[in-house]
Amino acid sequence: MPTCSYCGKTAAMGSGLRLFKKDGTSLYYCSRKCIRNHDMGRNPRRMKWTRAPAKPKKK
Ligand SMILES: [Zn+2]
Repeated sequence: MPTCSYCGKTAAMGSGLRLFKKDGTSLYYCSRKCIRNHDMGRNPRRMKWTRAPAKPKKK
């Protein structure tokens, strides 16, 4: 079960979109909604509908 790179939700196989970057890493998006928000440069941690965990603050 892949997890969405943007919202962090698990998606059923075949329902999402997998993108491959030039550096070899792959990103999985559960929907075009996530792709668009990512392209717009929005921080998923600021979006209420995402499950992306907040990173602990560095000291
Ligand atoms: Zn998503």
